[in-house]
Amino acid sequence: MSTKKILLADLINAIQNTININSDEVAELDRAIGDGDHVVNLQRGLDALNNIKDELATMNWSAAFMKIGMTLMSTMGGASGSLFGTLFVSMGKAAKGMELDLTAFSEIFYQGVESVKQRGKADIGEKTMLDTLIPVANSLVRDAQNTISLAVALNNAKAVAITGMESTKELIATKGRASFLGERAIGHIDAGARTSQLMICAIVDVIARHCEQREAI
Ligand code: ADP
Ligand code: MG
Repeated sequence: MSTKKILLADLINAIQNTININSDEVAELDRAIGDGDHVVNLQRGLDALNNIKDELATMNWSAAFMKIGMTLMSTMGGASGSLFGTLFVSMGKAAKGMELDLTAFSEIFYQGVESVKQRGKADIGEKTMLDTLIPVANSLVRDAQNTISLAVALNNAKAVAITGMESTKELIATKGRASFLGERAIGHIDAGARTSQLMICAIVDVIARHCEQREAI
C-alpha cells in the first residue's frame, strides 16, 4: 500500500473514532444551544469520506482537499457542512502545485480558515468553530515562520485548539443558531468548536506517529 493510502486511511479512521467516542457529548452540546444535529451531520460526512478514501489516495493533495470539501458540502448539511466544505475546497485551491511541508501547509490551512470566516461572516470570539480554527491557523503560520520543528508545531497546534475550544464556554454567540439564545448560551461549549478541536487533535496524533515511524526506519 502507498504511504499516502495508509496515511489517509489512518487519518479518516482516527477522526471517525474520536467523533464516535465523543458523539454523546457533542450531541448534548448542540442540543443545549443549537438543534442537536451537529454530530450526526458530521458522522454522515465522515462516512462519505471513508467511502472514497481509496480514490482520494490516488489524487494529489490539492485535488484531494477539493474532493473532500465537495463531499462534505454535498453530504453533511447544516451550517457546518457548508463551512467545513468551504475549508477544504479553499485549501484545495491554495494547495495547487504545492508540496506539503509545514510552511506550505500552514499557508494552505490559513487560506482555508480565511474562507470559512468569509463564508460564515464570522471571526474569533463569536462562539463558533472559528474559535478553534483561527488560533490553530495562527499558531501554524507563526511556528512555520520561526522554523520551529514539526513535532513542536504540532503540539502547539493541539494546545491552542484546546484553549480555543474551551474559550467558547464563556462567550455569547453572535453567529449561528446559538445566537438566538443571547446570554443563555453562556456556560456551554460550542459544538463545532469541540468537533474541530477533536479532529485537529486526532490529525496531529496521526501525523506525529507517521513522522516517528518514518524516522525510525
Ligand atoms: P446547524 O447549525 O445548521 O444545525 P450544525 O449543527 O451541523 O449546523 O453546526 C453547528 C456549528 O456550526 C456551530 O456549533 C458552529 O460551530 C458552526 N457555525 C454555525 N454558524 C456559523 C458561522 N456563521 N460561522 C462559523 N461557524 C458557524
Ligand atoms: Mg445543529
